[in-house]
Amino acid sequence: LASRLQGIAPTVFSQMSALAARTGSVNLGQGFPDVDGPPDVIARAVAALESGQNQYAPGTGVPALRQAVARHQRRHYGLDLDPDAQVCVTTGATEAVAAALLGLVNPGDEVVVLEPYYDSYVAMIQMAGGVRRPVTLRAPDFRLDVDELRAAVTPRTRFVLLNSPHNPTGTVLTREELTAVAEVAVEHDLVVITDEVYEHLTFDDHEHVPLATLPGMFERTLTLSSAGKSYSFTGWKVGWATGPADLVGAVLAAKQWLTFTSGSPLQPAVAHALDEEPDWPAALARDLQARRDLLCAGLADVGLDVRVPEGTYFATSDISSLGWEDGLSFCLALPERAGVVAIPSQVFHDDPTGAGPGGQLVRWAFCKEPGVIRDGLARLASAD
Ligand code: PMP
Ligand code: GLN
Repeated sequence: LASRLQGIAPTVFSQMSALAARTGSVNLGQGFPDVDGPPDVIARAVAALESGQNQYAPGTGVPALRQAVARHQRRHYGLDLDPDAQVCVTTGATEAVAAALLGLVNPGDEVVVLEPYYDSYVAMIQMAGGVRRPVTLRAPDFRLDVDELRAAVTPRTRFVLLNSPHNPTGTVLTREELTAVAEVAVEHDLVVITDEVYEHLTFDDHEHVPLATLPGMFERTLTLSSAGKSYSFTGWKVGWATGPADLVGAVLAAKQWLTFTSGSPLQPAVAHALDEEPDWPAALARDLQARRDLLCAGLADVGLDVRVPEGTYFATSDISSLGWEDGLSFCLALPERAGVVAIPSQVFHDDPTGAGPGGQLVRWAFCKEPGVIRDGLARLASAD
């Protein structure tokens, strides 16, 4: 294995979904919905397949989708983007993360990243030759500690890789927290790559504030998102990067050698979703909120300390209240004990042991049908 991949474990999501399949467990691990997105959007993809839209799209994406993404950013956030220079379609947000880091980070550049982190960030920072500098969102409330953020910045820091709404904690960064990030970025002349794939999946009165909308931030912010989360098409892998032309250009510069272009027939369908189903994500968020409440109440009933998330697909619990000291051991034993799969949050930390800040934290997905959540909870309740 090349050194650029050394020390990076196989992704926990493949491991845990395989475990769920093998043991017939209820999969509350990997975050994917068990109901697909809007049928008219699927029909639009079928129409594109049947009407000959099956050859290479332009590298930046089909114009209809770039224009729809620009309209989306204007409608929701008042951001004005040039769809030809300031939007690049990618193969999911995963490729957007990869292309952004490969396109921007030089060997030795330091990247400040929220910990726990989505696992592809670690792999891609390393593949780009960068050095990660984690800032930990700590239990029980997983807020951003601005002093820790400031302390993580060194003369070699060039980037912040942000994620809000945040996977796995479910924290939605407040305007105050984001303002602090913006101040640090301006003060140290940093570029911020912000992963906002859960932008529409927020609950109660928590509101997603795109970092790019803060004063002085547009020109130093690259924003990433995806149709996977907003429209429940995680398998379509249609994402996008938006921002100033130089940052989006760097994404394209790397993307052209990764995939060249992304799947043609799905792009007009996602454009249709953004333009014609603008309220669908908000309805999904309302549904998810009820499922969040169902899951959190059930986890509390079985004796887990659970933090009610402000957004995303995920709730985090502390398993020490059940007498367990290590989340990974807990999650590896859970299929056998209860027939349920969950994700140990410690694998999203620099210290992946039980002694680290994520050691007793376990992530549960609630982007599932209520019946599936109830089944999982009933199994947990009857576990030994
Ligand atoms: N970032 C975060 C924080 C995620 O949770 C996910 C979901 N899998 C992704 C990126 C990847 O998105 P996509 O499936 O569009 O590649
Ligand atoms: N984003 C989803 C999660 O965090 C799925 C990720 C994946 O399968 N790579 O569970």
